[in-house]
Amino acid sequence: MTTFSWEDFVGVLKNTDIEFHHLKLVQLAQAILESGRGSSDLFRLHGNPFGMKYRREMCGVAIPIQYSAHDGEDVYCKFDTLQDAVDGYWVFIDRPIYSGWRTSVATEADYIDFIAFAGYVGGDDAAKQHYVTKVTNLFGEAATLLGSNPAAQPGATWNKNGVLLEIGHGVTPSGGMDPGAIGINPKNEYELNKIAAIAAQRLIRQAGVPCDLTDAVASLRSLGERAAGYDVFCSIHHNSASAPAQGAEVLVCKSKSDPDDLQLSAMMSAEIAAELGIRDRIAGGRDPRLHLGILKGAESTDVRVSVLAELYFIHVPIPDVVDWSTRGGEAVARAILKWLAANP
Ligand SMILES: [Zn+2]
Repeated sequence: MTTFSWEDFVGVLKNTDIEFHHLKLVQLAQAILESGRGSSDLFRLHGNPFGMKYRREMCGVAIPIQYSAHDGEDVYCKFDTLQDAVDGYWVFIDRPIYSGWRTSVATEADYIDFIAFAGYVGGDDAAKQHYVTKVTNLFGEAATLLGSNPAAQPGATWNKNGVLLEIGHGVTPSGGMDPGAIGINPKNEYELNKIAAIAAQRLIRQAGVPCDLTDAVASLRSLGERAAGYDVFCSIHHNSASAPAQGAEVLVCKSKSDPDDLQLSAMMSAEIAAELGIRDRIAGGRDPRLHLGILKGAESTDVRVSVLAELYFIHVPIPDVVDWSTRGGEAVARAILKWLAANP
């Protein structure tokens, strides 16, 4: 029996003209996820890297095959050729269940969001969101395979699950809302933490490094324990004080930090300070080691480094907090990418 090769599939996809060229990245990212990089039997034996079930509209391009996947036995598409598989994916997407998908193609993220919630994956909203996150995290790898990722390094700079960013404050374990520091600017700390984390995630993913966000409801220690399996954990905050102050600081766990944590703390604090034109409080002599439950939790895992960033102080007037937090978040991302590149 002939089996299909993953390299052949990537080659065929690369050489196929599709309606929206930029969506090839999503098509490949889904294939990476659904087929385990070409390792599933559904792909190897039946040429279907997308985990697509058989539907009658597929009759011109695929034949039905009984197949047992992780979610039980069902009828899936079997393709004769990898070109049929690549083309068949778009036949599948052109079915009525996804009608309107062409209105959600401005970005790769818009498209995967649309088809996931339209029914590409089953389950509740959380399951669909989880799928979107997993596919989005593979955009960098897909871009590298398509030869279109200028930011990609020759070798991967992470060796676990990449980066986990934690949005400081928000919903509390008891269901209340902790806004963090209030400051005197139009947005509270939690809102700004979220803006910064999303900006950081975007930049890290653009560099081809997987990056997840957590905005979870949990105790500080167990929030930190989510760092398990990642290379980098960074909790994102904004500072405030009773006396006038401005500057950036990046903190580490007092009892469990090591030279790697201190190195990232220094790099990140410098990066944020330079970006925002404010004082680098760590370079200025502030001891970054503090008793922080969240970092204690993180350091109890196998995470390589964990820090808590206080981007800037919000109890003093800031010309544009959205701009500052976006740029501060991007500085966090650059520091993380630099640290990963320096510590492969
Ligand atoms: Zn905070």
